Parts: sequence; C-alpha cells; structure tokens
Amino acid sequence: MIETQTTTIKQQQSSAPIEYDAIIIGAGAGGISALLHLRDLGLRCRLFESGGGPGGAWYWNRYPGARFDSESYSYGFFFSKELFQEWKWSEHFAGQPETERYFNYVIDRFDLRRDMQFKSRVDKAHFNDEKNAWDVTLADGTRYRGRWLVAAVGPLTKPQLPKIDGIESFAGEAYHTARWPKHPVSFEGKRVGVIGTGASGVQTIQEVAKSAAHLTVFQRTANYMAPLGNGPVTDEEQEQIQASFEELKRKVNSSYAWFLHTPDQRSIFDVSDEERERFFEEKYNARGMGIWQGNFRDILTDRRANDLISDFIRRKIRERVKDPETAEKLIPKDHGFGTRRVPHETNYYEVYNQPNVTLVDLKATPITRIVPQGVQTSESFHELDMLIYATGFDAITGAFEAIDIRGLGGQKLDDKWIDGPSTYLGVMTAGFPNFYMPAGPLSAQGNIPRTCEYNAWWLAELIRYMQAEGLTYVEPKPEAEEEWTEHARQVQSTLLTSEVDSWFTGVNRNREGRTSRRVVQYRGGAFIYREKCEAAVRNGFPEFIKK
Ligand code: NAP
Repeated sequence: MIETQTTTIKQQQSSAPIEYDAIIIGAGAGGISALLHLRDLGLRCRLFESGGGPGGAWYWNRYPGARFDSESYSYGFFFSKELFQEWKWSEHFAGQPETERYFNYVIDRFDLRRDMQFKSRVDKAHFNDEKNAWDVTLADGTRYRGRWLVAAVGPLTKPQLPKIDGIESFAGEAYHTARWPKHPVSFEGKRVGVIGTGASGVQTIQEVAKSAAHLTVFQRTANYMAPLGNGPVTDEEQEQIQASFEELKRKVNSSYAWFLHTPDQRSIFDVSDEERERFFEEKYNARGMGIWQGNFRDILTDRRANDLISDFIRRKIRERVKDPETAEKLIPKDHGFGTRRVPHETNYYEVYNQPNVTLVDLKATPITRIVPQGVQTSESFHELDMLIYATGFDAITGAFEAIDIRGLGGQKLDDKWIDGPSTYLGVMTAGFPNFYMPAGPLSAQGNIPRTCEYNAWWLAELIRYMQAEGLTYVEPKPEAEEEWTEHARQVQSTLLTSEVDSWFTGVNRNREGRTSRRVVQYRGGAFIYREKCEAAVRNGFPEFIKK
C-alpha cells in the first residue's frame, strides 16, 4: 500500500554522498518546523518524506471522517502570526482534506518545498565516526551525508495490522485507516467490517454507518468516548480567533498538554455533588476535550475521583444507546475514564441504534480466523465485502525501528531501546550524536504539533549555541539521559494510566515483546517540560558532551 519511490535528485548509487548540514526525515509538523528553524540559521537542509506530499500523519490518515479532535487553531502552527491570521479554518475541528491543504499552503507560503523530497523513504542512517556526520541511504540506494540528522518520524505513523490468522486470505476490499487510498471508496450496498474502536475506528465507524448495507464493528476493548462538539467557524468566531493569536498561544503553551484545555485546579472533592454534576454536564456538552483535559485535577490520579467521572460517562452511554445489552458492551469495565486516549465523537453511540449496525464484543467472542469471505469469531461467522483495520500504530518507537539507525561504534538504536526508550528531554539519546527527534520518546505528551514546534525551536537554540562556541558535536551525557528517563518513569507511576494497557504505556499486543507496559511519553506537564528545556538554554546546555 505504500507508494513507490521516485527521487527528484538523480544520483549514481556509487558516487559520493551529497552533503548537507542537516538531513530531516518526515514532512509532518515536526519536519516542517525543523526545516523552518534550521533554514533560518543558514543551514543547508534536505528533507525526505515517504509520502507524496506534506502532512505526515495527516497525509496518510485519509480515512473517511478523519479530523482533528483538538481545536484547529490550537493544532496549526504558531511560529508566524501572519500565517495564523491568514489561514481561516472552516470548522472548529478540521477534516483531513482541509488539514492536508493547510500543510501544502504552509510549505509554499514559506518556500520550503524546494528543500523537500517526497516519495523518498529513508532506509538507513548510520553515524560516521570519522566524518562526524550521518550517512543516510534512501530506499533507492541514493546516499546523503548530514552533520545533523533530524528524525521527525512521528509517534503515530507506523501502521499496525492485527495479528490474526488468515488475515492475508481475505478476498474483499481491505484497508488500514492509516494507509487509506486516495481514490474514493464507496460503502454503498456493502457489508463492511471495522476492527478497532480507538480514535481512528470511531471516526471511521461514524462515516461508514451512514451508507453501508451492513456495518459490523469488532470491538476488543471498549473505550470511553465524549462528544466532539464540532461545527463551522462563524465569521464572528473567525474574527475573534484571529484577534486572539497571543492569547491562544499563551494558553496552549501554559496548559498541561499543550491544548486549549487544562485541568481545573480544584479537587473533585472540593465541590458538592450538584456542582460536580453541573460541571461534568457543561464539559460534556462543550466543544473539544474539556471533559478529559480540563476536568478536576485529580481525575487521573485518584481512583475515587476517577470513579465519579467514569460513572458519569457510563450513564451517558446508557442514555444514548437504546439496547441495554449493546450499551453494556460499549461500557469499559477494565479501566477508568481518561486513562487511555479518549476518542471524541459525533453521534458515535447513536450509530448502534441503527438497524444496519452490529457490535461484536471480541472479549466475549474473539476472532478465531479471517477467511476469504469474512471473519469467524468463536461464536459466529460474519460475511463481508470489505474489512477496515482501524488497529492503530506501532506507536512511539515503531517509526524509528522502521529505519536502520546506528550511532557511535555502529550501535543500533533498536538494541539500545530493547527494554524501552531512554532519552534526554525526549529529543536526544546518548551514543547518537547530533541526532534529534522532535516529539520523540519521552517528550511532553499532548498536542503533538505543539511539542514539535517547541522542540524545533529548542534545536535551533542548541545549534545557535554550537555555532557561537565553534562546536560540531553534541551528545547527551548518559547520566542526564538516565535522570530524565527516571523522572518520566516516576511521573508515570503516579498516574492511573500506568495501570492500563494502551499505546500510552507502550503496549502493542500485535507485536512480540511489546505486550508489557513501558514508559514512552513524559506526562509531567508541558510547563515543567518547558522549564527544563529553557533552563538548559539559559545554562549553556550543561547536560551535553560537546566537541
Ligand atoms: P488505537 O487507539 O491504538 O486503537 C486501535 C484499536 O484496534 C483498538 O480498539 C484495539 O483494541 C484494536 N485492535 C488492535 N489489534 C487488534 C486485534 N488484533 N484484534 C482486535 N482489535 C484490535 O489506534 P487509533 O485508533 O488509530 O488511534 C491511535 C492514536 O492516533 C489515537 O490515540 C490518537 O492519539 C491518534 N488519532 C488522533 C485523531 C485525531 O486527532 N482526531 C484521530 C485518530 C487517531 P485494544 O484496545 O483492545 O488493543
């Protein structure tokens, strides 16, 4: 399903590599931010992207219904006030086609396209100790060398198919949400199966249910969902948004996870039962992630507090789903609200009131096999014309593992991270000099483009410092990396999330050796993260080995 590669720069495989100051992998928010910042410093950069255009996750995830679930104007770039004011998002939560147009607009507006090379997959990146540079090889064998390697490969970019016997035998149409084709796909009159009910599955299901002859949803773990509250941005709202650049920027930068919503500093137990219920109702009916990201401060740390909000959402599911048996299947029993990623929905629960939709609870009746005509569970056979895998990603480290990355002395990054990733501030790792990972493992979680943009700024600060000091080599000290990794571990252990399997805790049940929990993100809050990063800038980057 991945597009075939062509290169725009033709080069003999045997000739010397083309040299750059920085090679950037990925044209998502991280790669674009890095390219902008590094070019401003006068660096010669080359960006390689396997997709046919910019957007990263928003290029590939073109499944029906794909859209933001953080506000469009908190998701787009903040580096330019002019850009922010020029681009008018049509919806509070923009759909994929608009987002793809936005990324194209940005790269043309800032003349970035000339340094970008699409349909170009990086296969290998090896640090050359002698040259103090990264030797990079594309899938077609062309070679490049860069003093810096910026792997903006994204935490949620390597699609994961389910490990199910017979999967390759299915004779109908089959798609993974993260590799959705560009050509139109019709569900009209078809029997469609969707496996997976995370954020991608939910958005897909809402769309497919509109026209499929029959939709069968295969749900393994029920998730708590909350309404998205999307709608068009009115002219008045547009004006208000455009006039609030500074305020919105301050808001996302000072929130817990770079969203417009941040936890209420009260404990859930500071308020009366009536006030709490009113607060929950307001959040549930408001736009966006407030019910999750802007709730009482203790819902994700105190089990009793979490029980209260989980119970509220369970009641909502029972109210919205007519058939009590189906409602019970849709109610999570094994984790509390918000401890896994909360998908935000638009009439998702009402889909199960439609006569053309069936929910299959895989906890009770697991899939035993996929066969040419459909899906066999332990209980029944589901004949299908189309099967959609909304089964997510090999998250956080998967996209790094897809490239053969080797640091000092040929050490493989996969080997270093075999028991889980370890990094300094989520962006660099010991033994891999001048190797930078925007929104990398153990960086501050939340609104990913915000992390990317911030990390790109920080990289520019680091390079500016190196230029001033005449340095060409930096690598985090092992003790600095250990300290940060341990801090991330410690923070995670205080959260209810740490007790739950999901990509938040590094679990990928479709992969051998990835079934136990790991620490893969930093959850201490974006403000603490920023303070640590900014202290490093102020103090002259003391945590690095420098040459
Ligand atoms: P996901 O959250 O990992 O969900 C994957 C789903 O597939 C889960 O329901 C999972 O069940 C199921 N699954 C996996 N393997 C299976 C198997 N072998 N048999 C049956 N079911 C299986 O992936 P996602 O929905 O693609 O979302 C990933 C992340 O991308 C989100 O959490 C979000 O951060 C991001 N995203 C964002 C947006 C947005 O901004 N609007 C939209 C989509 C995605 P289990 O839970 O039991 O493993």
